[in-house]
Amino acid sequence: MDTRRKFLQKISGSAIGLSLLPGLGMATRLTADKTFSGKTLNVAILGLGNYATRVAEAMTLCTRAKLTGLISGTPSKIAAWQAKYNIPAKNCYNYDNYDAIQDNSDIDAVYIITPNALHAEEAIRVAKAGKQVICEKPMAISVKEGEEMIDACKKAHVKLLVGYRMHFEPHTLEIIRLRKAGEFGKITFFQGLSGFTIGDPSQWRLNPKLSGGGSMMDIGIYSVNGSRYMIGEDPVWVNAVETKNDPVKFVAGIDETMQFQLGFPGGAVASCLSTYSMNNLDRFFLDGVNGFAELHPATGYDPTEGFTHKGPLNFPTTVHQAVQMDEMAAIILDGKQPVLPVDGEEALKDLKVIEGIYKSAKSGKTVNLTI
Ligand code: NDP
Repeated sequence: MDTRRKFLQKISGSAIGLSLLPGLGMATRLTADKTFSGKTLNVAILGLGNYATRVAEAMTLCTRAKLTGLISGTPSKIAAWQAKYNIPAKNCYNYDNYDAIQDNSDIDAVYIITPNALHAEEAIRVAKAGKQVICEKPMAISVKEGEEMIDACKKAHVKLLVGYRMHFEPHTLEIIRLRKAGEFGKITFFQGLSGFTIGDPSQWRLNPKLSGGGSMMDIGIYSVNGSRYMIGEDPVWVNAVETKNDPVKFVAGIDETMQFQLGFPGGAVASCLSTYSMNNLDRFFLDGVNGFAELHPATGYDPTEGFTHKGPLNFPTTVHQAVQMDEMAAIILDGKQPVLPVDGEEALKDLKVIEGIYKSAKSGKTVNLTI
């Protein structure tokens, strides 16, 4: 596997690497195409934290998406990012004055990368300013908020896209292609394992007012979303059990470990684990009557590894965030339809399942879902 990985890393960005990408159009590049002369999507990032740092770095590899603006509550970060990414002062804002982006033609879209509970209000402000909205997962902390975001973006005639980077990942897309082609036969089962051991107890992820929930909102959402795109249906019922071993670190409103089962209309079932207290949990398994597929790691940054009953899937390692941003530029600028949707309606479905999971864990009963 090591040799294969080295080979794939070596070809990343080469013509061979590009030609191997399935289901991705001309917008996808592993390294920036300096000769591209078409319209680019000019993006401001709102919230300059850890993930934003990764996204900004990845965007230097993009062909069609370009970092042109900054919105932050921390002036020292603005100064450092301005210098690093050559952003003019006129494109920099704080949380009090960023409604003024409506008059800034250097900014087409705002990518919201702040704590979960802030997404809804920020997305609505960005939409009202007439800019395209890209928002991190979870889109919001409730179905109600998600619906308000969708409405605001519709009213403002702007798109609302959510940072589901795995929806553009080559191994993932190949499994979807194979499933649609009938390679696995009738789908019977999905297993999703999503978890890590969370550190610093003072971080916003463990504050329900900012996170809106615990492991489910942060990492379990990958298994919820993955069950839907791997099986290719939306669930109709959910059953969930929560385990809390450390009620000091994981206060009320912060789930530590959640096990949940989902039932799908075609008869398939899913069994998933979401946790903030175990390591090495990043695996998807899809079973059908004629074969199986596995992603392991399934949703970690890089590299994703996949195989089926026929053997390993040989696709290049990509920088997820760079591919995502170029593809989102194509969706916004060209109206491109992605293989797996990344719009607000798609993200709302995950919030509906997560609300069902919380409801089931609390009541001890199976909850029917209308997605
Ligand atoms: P960080 O804490 O590292 O960054 C969040 C940033 O938001 C801060 O640095 C700060 O930026 C800004 N902010 C504004 N208000 C607050 C507040 N009250 N408390 C804390 N920060 C605030 O978080 P992450 O970058 O890890 O996560 C941000 C979002 O990205 C989350 O929704 C998370 O789920 C998502 N995410 C997605 C990943 C993916 O793979 N798709 C991976 C990791 C995170 P500033 O100082 O500039 O104001």
